[in-house]
Amino acid sequence: MPATAANDVDVAEQSWHYLERSKVATTLETNLENGLDPAEVANRQQQFGSNELTVKAGKPAWLKFILQFNQPLLIILLSAGLIKALIGEWLNASVIWGVTTTNAIISFVQEAGAEKKIDALAKAVTTEATVIRGGKKLRVPSKELVVGDLVTLTSGDKVPADLRLIKVRDLQIDESGLTGESVAVEKELGQSGDLVLPQETPLAERDNMAYAGSFVTFGQGSGIVIAIANKTETGKISQLLDRHIDLTTPLTRKFNEFSQNWLLFVLGMATLTFAVRLGRPVPAGVSAFKEAVEPAVALIVGAIPEGLPAVITVTLAVGVSRMATRHAIVRKLPAVETLGGATVVCSDKTGTLTENQMTVQEIYSGGESYSVTGTGYSPEGEIQLNQLPINVSQSPTLQECLQAGLICNDSHLEFKDNNWIAIGDPTEGALIAAAKKAELSQQVLEKSMPRLDSIPFESQFQYMATLHQTPTGKVLYVKGSVESVLSRCGSSLDTQGNPAEVDREQAHHQVDEMAKQGLRVLAIAKKVVPESQNSVNHSDLESGLIFLGLQGMIDPPRAEAIAAVQACQTAGIQVKMITGDHIATAKAIARRMGFRKTKHNRELVAYTGAQLAAMDKNELAEAVEAGSVFARVAPEQKLRLVEALQLQGEIVAMTGDGVNDAPALKQADIGIAMGSGTEVSKEAADMILTDDNFASIECAIEEGRSVYKNLLKAISFILPVNGGESMTILLSTLLGRELPILSLQILWLNMLNSITMTVPLAFEPKSPGVMQQQPRSANEPLLTASRIKRIIAISLYNWTVIFGMFEWVRQADWGTIELARTMAIQALVMGRIFYLLSLSQLLPSLIAKFSGSKEEVSGAPALGVGIVLAVILQIIFANSPFINGIFETAPMNLDQWLICFGVALPMIGVALSVNRFDPPN
Ligand code: ADP
Ligand code: MG
Repeated sequence: MPATAANDVDVAEQSWHYLERSKVATTLETNLENGLDPAEVANRQQQFGSNELTVKAGKPAWLKFILQFNQPLLIILLSAGLIKALIGEWLNASVIWGVTTTNAIISFVQEAGAEKKIDALAKAVTTEATVIRGGKKLRVPSKELVVGDLVTLTSGDKVPADLRLIKVRDLQIDESGLTGESVAVEKELGQSGDLVLPQETPLAERDNMAYAGSFVTFGQGSGIVIAIANKTETGKISQLLDRHIDLTTPLTRKFNEFSQNWLLFVLGMATLTFAVRLGRPVPAGVSAFKEAVEPAVALIVGAIPEGLPAVITVTLAVGVSRMATRHAIVRKLPAVETLGGATVVCSDKTGTLTENQMTVQEIYSGGESYSVTGTGYSPEGEIQLNQLPINVSQSPTLQECLQAGLICNDSHLEFKDNNWIAIGDPTEGALIAAAKKAELSQQVLEKSMPRLDSIPFESQFQYMATLHQTPTGKVLYVKGSVESVLSRCGSSLDTQGNPAEVDREQAHHQVDEMAKQGLRVLAIAKKVVPESQNSVNHSDLESGLIFLGLQGMIDPPRAEAIAAVQACQTAGIQVKMITGDHIATAKAIARRMGFRKTKHNRELVAYTGAQLAAMDKNELAEAVEAGSVFARVAPEQKLRLVEALQLQGEIVAMTGDGVNDAPALKQADIGIAMGSGTEVSKEAADMILTDDNFASIECAIEEGRSVYKNLLKAISFILPVNGGESMTILLSTLLGRELPILSLQILWLNMLNSITMTVPLAFEPKSPGVMQQQPRSANEPLLTASRIKRIIAISLYNWTVIFGMFEWVRQADWGTIELARTMAIQALVMGRIFYLLSLSQLLPSLIAKFSGSKEEVSGAPALGVGIVLAVILQIIFANSPFINGIFETAPMNLDQWLICFGVALPMIGVALSVNRFDPPN
């Protein structure tokens, strides 16, 4: 491609909106009908690289590291170190700084790991584009596009590169990301079909251009790629794509708020301690000031749970990757938490609850009811009347009904791996298979009745229409929902193809019969139009259609979705079906799937979109709670449903795949998009299901609940140690006793010991009971009354151990002050190990395993490693001369170890009784 290759820059600077499309094609050496040649594409990919914005490096690692210190907690610790340094206790100061830095390193590494995980997941979700290359339509990853490619757009697509539009049909594009204009703009090419704009036309008014990163909200179009990657307008503005990942969630925010207040309180208490100690007499030659600093610093260090933030990040990250292995990709971290609290799941029917494997089973045409045999998309099967096979060519109306279904159709069937599959819309695949059973061929018909124009299917219109040139004149074929098609029919045909009256009553009766069996029903019609007509508009379909018949297809529920609906209901989560399909069809499927009647209703209650639209606020509030099926719902109504449910205090998860689902997905507490859905919906969602399956939602909720439980366990585990330590310091100071534990020792406990023992909690096996419990209430505080009681009880026990052990050893004639402190700490840590085991799901699941459960015990290695590591660290703490020097500890002999162990044993009893009023699982 000499011209473009040489003037790559010039090409990027061209005013493409100012060129005729033929000129665009020659400049870029491409073809307006067939696009580029595949060989040329490969060439250009080599030369110009991939259509991806350069990712901004983000903040440099060192800056991120420094920012770790920008937390009140760490600043206070650093200042505590500074005070120590000022009074000349350099060793103390450097250990405080050292440990604080270690903590920053740990959380830096954890955070980087979590970010990487989420980022990798986000990248795994690729954007695709439809291109025409060498005359063939293909789906390719957007990053493979090159300048000159011919791209087609349909509603829901993300514009993959900057395009000079060459064809449009009602095309509307949301360019808000680029222009700030929040209303979608209509792209028009004028009468001639090729609009050329003045050179100075501002970006927002260029009707013949589509820009990368904007979204197609309506209609179709096609265009030639004129710029890719950083050369696109978006690329120029932002220069670099900021892939910033936000690690804050409602819980971390709540926690931060709590820490701020807690910090103030702790500072107050520290001042008090300082004052009390200052007022006490000191031995001669000792500075009262210096003596008073230690308890104050120790109290600050002891009362702050330094290790907790790191543990929270790890727990959330573990949740994210567990969900990913179960087909749920979390796009926004808070979803992990919110999922665990979901009270209502609103799910699409088709494809999510059902297989999306459709097969026509019944046809009503020309006043007769036929049945169709065969399964799947295979052309094997026959059409029967009264259980006897018929020759379709003898029933012209039936034949035309099948034929219409076959060519008013944008999909096709393929034989792959010994199996017939539908490429495109499964509903359309079913119509093709049915027609094939009557020996009709898509290829032959497409030749003999070429398509002149079409209106593709859009949920909001519920029909599709195509205009054909037939040997006998121009004909319009329409297929769609019964409501949208039948009302527009003025006449019908009898079996033999003679004009007849439309028997609406009979037709509706037939629809009801089919829908009650769970069949999805499509109505089919035609219209003869004048020879002068070359295009089709919605207005052409307003009246005068000739009714050809109905085709009813099954779409069986997914077996795993049935189980998942049950599981959700057991877990106290209401499941509601929201569908564009017929109310009777939807109800039949819901019944088959065991949708439970709601609290107030013994009957399964269903509403249609039309009924909802007529309701006022109060009626709607009642309906959203009472109903479990909402049929013929327009995408716009989903938003109203979500809002009404939220007003009732529900935490709503809502699925969606269409272009118009985005507002509802954003409004929902958890917006869930389908992997096969539109780019618009994926962009708006918090989570994407890679397999479109309802069962994956249930898995994600289960993981979400487990994550929350594990976070609570971490909090319940860490806080009582802080409680015990601060009580010790406060009381000993007030009582005028020696400090049983020093600030450095506290740091050791709160950081090294806490992190090694708490991180494994993030890997906790799921408790079997998570999906047996009711959802936690939306306004449940982090610290409930029983959780506070638990923390106080264990804190008191910890205090008893530290204080008691210290005082006892101190008074023994072999007890030095160093040994007393060391033994107090060892007893505390041993008790902590028992406490950890009492919170963990490990022992119960091991016991279950030994008594025959097949469930694998996950997380055991992590917990084991954590405990072993903690024990090793404690041995070093007491028995390494180097550590003895720094942390003012003393070596222990076996007897002393055993004494500590003995003192820790009662923790088992305490922990078990606490578990009674505050069950951790
Ligand atoms: P859902 O996906 O929830 O079943 P849709 O909005 O896709 O709902 O479909 C609504 C109705 O539109 C269907 O019940 C059917 O009658 C009709 N319909 C669905 N797909 C097509 C299609 N490809 N062409 C014409 N009509 C369709
Ligand atoms: Mg659909």
